Amino acid sequence: MAAISSKKHKQKVLILEQLDEIAIKLKATGGGRCNLTNTLSLEPFMEKFGKNGRFMRDALIAFSSSDLQEFMSDIGVQTHAPDGFRIFPTTHKSTTIIEAIKCKLLLDGIEVQCSQKALEITKKENIFCIKTTSDIFYSHNLVIATGGSGYKNLGATGEGYEFVKSFGHSLKKLYPAMMPLLVKDDWVSKCTADTIAKATIQVDIKKYNKLKATGDLIFSKNGIRGPVVLDFAREITPLFDTFDEIPVIVNMIKEKTENDLIELFKVTPTETISNVLLQILPKSIIQELLKISKICENSTYKSISGEEKINLLRILTKTPMTINGSDGFKLAMITRGGINLKEINPASMESKIISNLYFAGEIVDIDGPCGGYNLQWAFSSGFLAGSLK
Ligand SMILES: Cc1cc2nc3c(=O)[nH]c(=O)nc-3n(C[C@H](O)[C@H](O)[C@H](O)COP(=O)(O)OP(=O)(O)OC[C@H]3O[C@@H](n4cnc5c(N)ncnc54)[C@H](O)[C@@H]3O)c2cc1C
Repeated sequence: MAAISSKKHKQKVLILEQLDEIAIKLKATGGGRCNLTNTLSLEPFMEKFGKNGRFMRDALIAFSSSDLQEFMSDIGVQTHAPDGFRIFPTTHKSTTIIEAIKCKLLLDGIEVQCSQKALEITKKENIFCIKTTSDIFYSHNLVIATGGSGYKNLGATGEGYEFVKSFGHSLKKLYPAMMPLLVKDDWVSKCTADTIAKATIQVDIKKYNKLKATGDLIFSKNGIRGPVVLDFAREITPLFDTFDEIPVIVNMIKEKTENDLIELFKVTPTETISNVLLQILPKSIIQELLKISKICENSTYKSISGEEKINLLRILTKTPMTINGSDGFKLAMITRGGINLKEINPASMESKIISNLYFAGEIVDIDGPCGGYNLQWAFSSGFLAGSLK
């Protein structure tokens, strides 16, 4: 996007890509479907990025979600929002977008050189010198858009951070974000349930109990994954600096309360607890939760003691789990941290330290949740950086 925008501003442009194809990460986005943006307007969109969100204002105004959809339409990619919020190409294939972008680059006369890994970048007498594995390139302006640290095989090799540091920039500490989480509790590995919709996960440490997320939850062999876990992981990843293990409470029953459950059990007093719970939870999970609650599967709610009732209701509404790690950057869809925003001019994406040096995308200290936020940021910041304001 930076290249396309630069070309629009009458620049001669060259893209250097280390892999043998451009946009390899884009191919993997949205499970191969590419959730490229969403329908939120400016203010709520920025809010989702937390305290750094306001930095994006100029970029999002220069190239909004509507601009992105219009751009896609102009290059022949129709988009839609099947759930009214997340926007995808109507083909539900990220390759549709990649092919259209490649065509646009060709039509605009933008040179692309793949298998060109930048190894060193210096600046002398107003000219940038980019040494790659096989060549040396010179330019008046440079946009560094080398992405984050997650999914090394998709191009996240990390040199970009070294380049910006060599120019005197500082980095906000990098954390893997948006990845599956490992869970200590053995029972979790026995849950073979399908997706559990609208689950809520919340940190169970007083100082951090505002950190929570809601969405679809999936159990895996040694932990939990799914959209809610990705968003939650993004929130808690810095806590691993302080804690080896993070206790959390999970509500897998669509935020139902203890009173809601009591009502449910009252309606069918002769039914076993596990049969009643089948209305709201998959069998494998019911079995494990009853084991933790030390309640026999065939018991009815009426037949258990008051203490057992209290314990059961608590475990069902606030299921305790202990998160004890993740696979780190290997499976991190996003990197939290990056180039210190104080050192970048938000109106242009130009470095405040080195003139004519611009940044775009995930390399800067901006990260958003699941839902097309991060690609919109990459496109918007790329567009603004490429404008060479
Ligand atoms: C599996 C997965 C699914 C995702 N799904 C979504 C989604 O549906 N919606 C969403 O909004 N976001 C999603 N994201 C996040 C999104 O893909 C990124 O935020 C976005 O791609 C960042 O764009 P970027 O241009 O900054 O970096 P990238 O897309 O990572 O591009 C950086 C490019 O720079 C190249 N490069 C790096 N170093 C060098 C070097 N030294 N020399 C030459 N080239 C180099 C890389 O090879 C790469 O091609 C997903 C991420 C992953 C991993």
